[in-house]
Amino acid sequence: MNKASNAKRRQLVVGNWKMNGSLQENAGLLASITAGWQGNTDVVICPPFPYLQQVCELLKNTPIMLGAQTVSEHDKGAFTGEISASMLTDLNCKFVIIGHNERRRMQHESDEQIVHKFIAVQKAGLIPILCVGESLQDREQGRHLETINRQLNAVFAHTGKDVFENAVLAYEPVWAVGTGKTALPEQAEEVHRFMRSQLGRLAEEVRILYGGSVKAHNAQQLFALPDIDGALLGGASLNAEEFLAICKAAD
Ligand code: PEP
Repeated sequence: MNKASNAKRRQLVVGNWKMNGSLQENAGLLASITAGWQGNTDVVICPPFPYLQQVCELLKNTPIMLGAQTVSEHDKGAFTGEISASMLTDLNCKFVIIGHNERRRMQHESDEQIVHKFIAVQKAGLIPILCVGESLQDREQGRHLETINRQLNAVFAHTGKDVFENAVLAYEPVWAVGTGKTALPEQAEEVHRFMRSQLGRLAEEVRILYGGSVKAHNAQQLFALPDIDGALLGGASLNAEEFLAICKAAD
């Protein structure tokens, strides 16, 4: 079955605002996005934690869904500064980004910790967006698939593969995130195909997003590839015109 005829692989565009925004900026950005969006693609916005409530209110009665940028692996307790998955459900979040390379690198999140976050997210009834991706060095040494395999297997070993029925994967080459360098279509497709081949009976069912300097001018080419089901966006999600153009390209 190709992706266009597979309802489970409806296109998905996720905007990760990272540590950007203010009450005023968010309101302006979301007014333009909600006014300009209608379509069949699933669209998700992941604001910083302090703005989840605001964005939750502003997205009410719109088709756009709310997501979070990370979560604690713990249910509750003495974890200063952390946010639990059940708190995210209180705010009407539907998706949580897990294992973003900025958190793997800057917060030293390990494969092991990411697995526990993944499990906590699903236990709360939310959908994890599990990010994997190789460094520039891995890519230059031809070890990119090995890295992706390790990151995927860290999760599969704990959870099995069937739980990916309620999960999304994102391929984000570290060298392409926030750098303005996008993976070539053949590089992206090679990894997406590989990731799909690791999913067992769900190979053709799981949505796999590409992330890494996706912009309006290169989105169409990436979305045309058979194993890419949408995008995880950083920079482009902060500009309504650019964001809407990408959502429309996915549609
Ligand atoms: C990201 O942070 O997930 C990302 C893809 O960022 P950018 O689009 O800015 O490369």
